Amino acid sequence: MAKKEVAMLFDASHCTGCKGCQVACKQWNMLPATLEKNGNPFTGSYQSPMDLNGNTRLVMTFDEQESGNKFQELNFAIGRRSCYHCTDAACVKACSSGALFHMKNGVVAFDTDKCNGCTYCQSACPFDVPRFRKTDGRIDKCTMCLDRLEEGQVPACVKTCQPEALRFGDREEMIRIGMQRVEFLKKKGFAKAELYGVTEMGGLHILTVCKHGHEAYGLPTNPKPNKMIDTMSAMRTVTGVGAAAVVAGLAATFVAARGYRRKDVTIEEAKQGWTQEQRDKADREVKELLAKEARNQ
Ligand code: SF4
Ligand code: SF4
Ligand code: SF4
Repeated sequence: MAKKEVAMLFDASHCTGCKGCQVACKQWNMLPATLEKNGNPFTGSYQSPMDLNGNTRLVMTFDEQESGNKFQELNFAIGRRSCYHCTDAACVKACSSGALFHMKNGVVAFDTDKCNGCTYCQSACPFDVPRFRKTDGRIDKCTMCLDRLEEGQVPACVKTCQPEALRFGDREEMIRIGMQRVEFLKKKGFAKAELYGVTEMGGLHILTVCKHGHEAYGLPTNPKPNKMIDTMSAMRTVTGVGAAAVVAGLAATFVAARGYRRKDVTIEEAKQGWTQEQRDKADREVKELLAKEARNQ
């Protein structure tokens, strides 16, 4: 029997912004925090750090929205940023070494030992999630705490959430609970309330009850895999082209519109942050992949 799909439900209307989940994620996954003085300088926002990084798989996001209520002028839109475990995961398609893969329960897992640090996954992801970790030259992202799931436990972030803004279980059940909550919020006057993730990217395995609509939480409308996926697929089908020329073509034509609050970068620009060893390794693996696919055609 096929394994049932699981999902996490984040209900932004229940979240108090305590960041207990962020801390629990670091603790369980043994990811160090910045310790030096002013390592995360205060920027005027409750959000800290301001973005994901190689040692931070989860960031609670804080946005202030005008409420139109003179007695309480601002509403906080508190969101959650981590991997969304997409059904049509762009990162899996872009991964040059097979390090990222789908589990039957819907989780997008990765094998750290296989990662060559090429960061193609980061460029492909419409949510700009996987991050490069300089200390071991590999990427890191949320694993849905697979090690805990295998022991029958819920993810660490879910376990720690006091107001039950986070739930975990059967995906269909999470959708049902999320929709119910949206109906409740709409009746309370939050006209833009919606459940995000039911259909996006073929269906996400992190669903979000957005009290103020998904834009308020920085979630993209109708996210699409980056164009580099199409380019890569097209290049893979090219026959009779030397592998070196193909790699040069990839470098010249990849325009990784990373979006999600970041400027556009080309793959060549991205490569400037890599070590020579990483560049050589990534190019070698892409060449091998293309040569293998050409042989199979
Ligand atoms: S632990 Fe729960 S309430 Fe606290 S920030 Fe995380 S999701 Fe929100
Ligand atoms: S959110 Fe990005 S990293 Fe996570 S599964 Fe989707 S494409 Fe991959
Ligand atoms: S599921 Fe695990 S790895 Fe993912 S954000 Fe929660 S605690 Fe972190």
